[in-house]
Amino acid sequence: MSKAPRTEDPRRRDVKRAPSVVVINTGDGKGKSTAAMGMVMRSVARNWQVAVVQFIKSGKWKVGEEKVGQRLGVEWVAGGDGFSWDSEDLDRSAELNRETWELARRRIEAGKHRLVVLDEITYPINWGWIDEEEVAGTIINRPAHVNVVITGRDVPARLVEIAHTVTEMQLVKHAYQQGIRTIRGIDF
Ligand code: ATP
Ligand code: MG
Repeated sequence: MSKAPRTEDPRRRDVKRAPSVVVINTGDGKGKSTAAMGMVMRSVARNWQVAVVQFIKSGKWKVGEEKVGQRLGVEWVAGGDGFSWDSEDLDRSAELNRETWELARRRIEAGKHRLVVLDEITYPINWGWIDEEEVAGTIINRPAHVNVVITGRDVPARLVEIAHTVTEMQLVKHAYQQGIRTIRGIDF
């Protein structure tokens, strides 16, 4: 079915400039973290200071974007100690994730970075390792120019409430379901 091209301008006229926004990429489909990295690229292109804080994944599990990010002058903080099912000591994992949150909180409050990505932060929040209300409070009270991007499945309703843009990546198919293992260059 074809449709006639639109002839009237659909854009609204009352848009205003915001000093910063809060963006959430959630859902079960692939693309949450990669879309966040796309925003990192755009920010770097505008000469913004950028910080990426990765929860869950540890410093020794280097994703490809960390390599490129560091080349681009992005500050990279990889806390956590890997996936919870690999953890030998969940109390220790909880502690590491709380420490990572402290590093993230301080960066948001300092206002040096114009973009702060909190990658996979929804997991430690949902497991009760990081206080949801503290995260929400820190984001609400952030310096006006600090943009925050959150990624991870099952984002808490409280964070949706305070965000400006929330996208749910919908799983249609994933290679993993066909028994294909994660691919360097595509998945990390
Ligand atoms: P990506 O980093 O590729 O954008 P993501 O951030 O949306 O993925 P995560 O849950 O953080 O999703 O993904 C962690 C790893 O699992 C990545 O290697 C990703 O490609 C892969 N993955 C993403 N979605 C799925 C899925 N629905 N089933 C299996 N593996 C997935
Ligand atoms: Mg991810």
